[in-house]
Amino acid sequence: MNANQLAIHGGPKVKTTPFGTGKRFGLEETRELIEALEQNTLFYHSGKKVKQFLHDFNEMYGVKYSVAASSGTAAIHVALGAAGVTVGDEVITSPITDQGTLIGILYQNAIPVFADLDPRTYNIDPASLESRITPRTKAIVVVHLAGNACDMDPIMEIARKHHLIVIEDCAQSFLCRYKGRLVGTIGDYGCFSTNDFKHISTGDGGIITVNSGKEEDFRVVHAFADKNYQRFGGHVARDLSHLAPNYRMTELQGAVGIAQLKKLPWICEKRHQYGERITEGIRDLPGIQPHHVYEGNWSTYWFYMMRVDEAELNCTRDEFSRALAAEGIPNQAGYIPEVVYLNPLFQKQQAYLNSHFPFDLSDVSYHQGLCPTAEKILQTAVRFGVSEFFTEQDIEDIISGIRKVASYYRKSGQE
Ligand SMILES: *Cc1c(COP(=O)(O)O)cnc(C)c1O
Repeated sequence: MNANQLAIHGGPKVKTTPFGTGKRFGLEETRELIEALEQNTLFYHSGKKVKQFLHDFNEMYGVKYSVAASSGTAAIHVALGAAGVTVGDEVITSPITDQGTLIGILYQNAIPVFADLDPRTYNIDPASLESRITPRTKAIVVVHLAGNACDMDPIMEIARKHHLIVIEDCAQSFLCRYKGRLVGTIGDYGCFSTNDFKHISTGDGGIITVNSGKEEDFRVVHAFADKNYQRFGGHVARDLSHLAPNYRMTELQGAVGIAQLKKLPWICEKRHQYGERITEGIRDLPGIQPHHVYEGNWSTYWFYMMRVDEAELNCTRDEFSRALAAEGIPNQAGYIPEVVYLNPLFQKQQAYLNSHFPFDLSDVSYHQGLCPTAEKILQTAVRFGVSEFFTEQDIEDIISGIRKVASYYRKSGQE
């Protein structure tokens, strides 16, 4: 049998051993949970665990203030609400993201506006971002996709010029660095998620950093995650001066978070090494565009997403994806099925059941072709997981699988 024959055509598979796996939670988390229960309270303000979790996070990130929330979605909503984003404001963001980026914008009755992306990093393109600014623009939510930093210097410069608030969605980008700086510490607020699919898990959870370092800003953010209760030190006050949701983190999540945070540097280091090794192993392949990280940045690869150039290879993206899967390398053709603005919520301009508010305040458009690069990325991407539990062999097999499939379709095109 010819070793170069694709597995999808009956040839031998590249991957013959199972991928490495491991346990995310151990006795470290169990001990913290027992301590939390022994406090006889699971309320963050009465217990010590959420406080310790945030203290440790602040040390790791070198920030003075952060606030815990019930999810990453909640964290973004809290940042927007505390920043004063409100009815009819426009918020510019990325069309390739989790809907968690958008939910808070719409719950503040603000209007999401989509900017196009960099074709190599899949992150917001500063020039497109600037072209979307109108007199109604209030804020920018940048999404650091898949552990890779947005181009923050030009973004911050544009934001300052136009007096816009910058919120960094770091849900997929723990310990990711932009020119040496941790993402989440560069804009006005950084929002993190500890849902069960992220670098670290507390089941669900979120964190908001308050980067002004000002106590008054911290107090507004803190209260916005807690029904606008003012709970600081021994003092507690109800405040019904404005609306704020209940997005509190419990002591159980805080307890698990303390133990998970200790594992975070190792998890990110491994993912970084593996992602970089994959790029190294495929960068010379014609027809394949690796997941690009700009010089000076440090990606923590929440996933790896390359692009297939259908003109260079004699196959479609979907054929490439299926052939790679047959080699024993599980992967996904694309990421989210389509750019977010092509979903019914935006096409019908209906965020709330039975209402077109707040879209009827605006003439913002969500037509196909609005962000051509983003649309093209989803049509040509092949995405696969990178896990800290993978072995060196797994990474070599991923590289061999991609090389085998790419060279087959490259050759079959030349015949
Ligand atoms: C996961 C995720 C969120 C939302 O986080 P949850 O904790 O699930 O609410 C927001 N933005 C991005 C980019 C995400 O990947």
